[in-house]
Amino acid sequence: MASETETFDGGCTCRHVRYRMTSRPMFVNCCHCRWCQRETGTAFALNAMIEADRVELLSGDVELADTPSASGRGQRIWRCPACRVALWSNYAGAGDSVRFVRVGTLDEPDRLPPDIHIFTMSKQPWVILPEGVPAVREYYNPREVWPKASQDRFAAVKAKS
Ligand SMILES: [Zn+2]
Ligand SMILES: [Zn+2]
Repeated sequence: MASETETFDGGCTCRHVRYRMTSRPMFVNCCHCRWCQRETGTAFALNAMIEADRVELLSGDVELADTPSASGRGQRIWRCPACRVALWSNYAGAGDSVRFVRVGTLDEPDRLPPDIHIFTMSKQPWVILPEGVPAVREYYNPREVWPKASQDRFAAVKAKS
């Protein structure tokens, strides 16, 4: 059963950075856009969207890399200053109060499978999407897709910022 008290620990490869998500994320996007393919060097990016104040830095520090984005408004990628692994991003749309945590940096990434696949128009052809998980050619309206509880969390964090 989904619980607000679940925690998820993660970190970079050199272990300078260790962090903890103090609850489940609001939603997990698997993005198959060309930008995510290039930034990860692989087929997609897996991002868990969560309130910034629900991500605790347990040790180390993170370094900002301002990175262009498809929207033209930029993406702020936070990386380990030593091994440069990307840990989370802020996008202009959601602002600094929402972090897009890279699920692959969690100790147990299997716990957060995608809630939706996006930008499937540029999906690598050998990636076979599972049945029963929503998939859209481009982006989507969270009001039509996110659970009500997650929409409420997002509205609350936006109201605070
Ligand atoms: Zn590191
Ligand atoms: Zn993308």
